[in-house]
Amino acid sequence: MQDALTKARDCSCWSGDAPYTSYEERRVGMDGDFGEVTVLRCKSCGRFWLKYLMEYEHLSAAGRWFLGSIRPEVARSLKASQAKRVLESLEWYYRGGSAFGGKVIRTSPGQLKYWLTPFPGSSG
Ligand SMILES: [Zn+2]
Repeated sequence: MQDALTKARDCSCWSGDAPYTSYEERRVGMDGDFGEVTVLRCKSCGRFWLKYLMEYEHLSAAGRWFLGSIRPEVARSLKASQAKRVLESLEWYYRGGSAFGGKVIRTSPGQLKYWLTPFPGSSG
């Protein structure tokens, strides 16, 4: 178990911005706020990630995503409606997207509501 974790930390997926081709994707669906929930599995280390993608059609450059490392049993049973709660239960997750200037930022939980307040990226 320790070895698997050490390996995962060396993997490119751990940086939060590995290319999409590094993952196997499973679409979970949309939650009540129209956030798109996907479970990703890294092809090289096998680690599971929860991705929550939010886009506001009426705002440009406002797309944002959140990416948190989750346990396999969570990945298996995850429902779209649980995605935000799961993210907030993690020690940290990544956020990125045009709303954050295209940067990938390691984020502490407890602020997801704030990060999901619609604002266009160009205003900051
Ligand atoms: Zn990996």
